[in-house]
Amino acid sequence: MPPKRKAATHSLKLFGTPQSAVPVKFLSSDGIAPTRSFKTTPYRKRSGAWDYYKPISPAEQAYRDWTHRLGNYLSALEGQDANTVFESFPADYMFYWHITGTKPRYEPYLVGSASGAVFRTVPEFVLHARWLQQMQQGTCLCKYCAGGSQADASKRIATILDTMQMAIEENEQKPADTSDPWDLVDKIPSKVDRDPDAVEQAATHVLLDVKVKTEG
Ligand SMILES: [Zn+2]
Repeated sequence: MPPKRKAATHSLKLFGTPQSAVPVKFLSSDGIAPTRSFKTTPYRKRSGAWDYYKPISPAEQAYRDWTHRLGNYLSALEGQDANTVFESFPADYMFYWHITGTKPRYEPYLVGSASGAVFRTVPEFVLHARWLQQMQQGTCLCKYCAGGSQADASKRIATILDTMQMAIEENEQKPADTSDPWDLVDKIPSKVDRDPDAVEQAATHVLLDVKVKTEG
């Protein structure tokens, strides 16, 4: 009987503090110039309720919190427990406070995606960010691109984390590689069409492999 598939148990978590996080960048962006204008000067409706946007600066706690959680969460989704922080949001995105209500309420408002989505929480954005880091290949799994509720998106997150964890556990169970690293030298092609770049490239690869094997 095949082992029963465990229910999704893994969740997104932080691996360290923003102070000790390694800065990372977005590798692609689906950001476009805004197709609507955002009122960024304090504005009150006739009802007396505020309704305007204020850019969140990188010095603000909310900015650091979002970029740090995104960094850590994306690491987790890649199966690496790394404490990383994004240096900024994807190109042409804007991160605002949306200020509403008579007693002003401040809500994060991340816009710029060509999908038209407005991301209001980190969990809402994390799958879209993952898709950007995968150079926008395939279908984005975030709730705005793939549809469904945030609960559905959270299930997709848990499935990715479980798959990563299973891959890590399988890898840990493999017996240690005891082969002689110098065997790799044989892998240098004996004849590389007299292209010195190709020879050098092949040699570098082997040397890197040897280094990794020797150290590991
Ligand atoms: Zn998306």
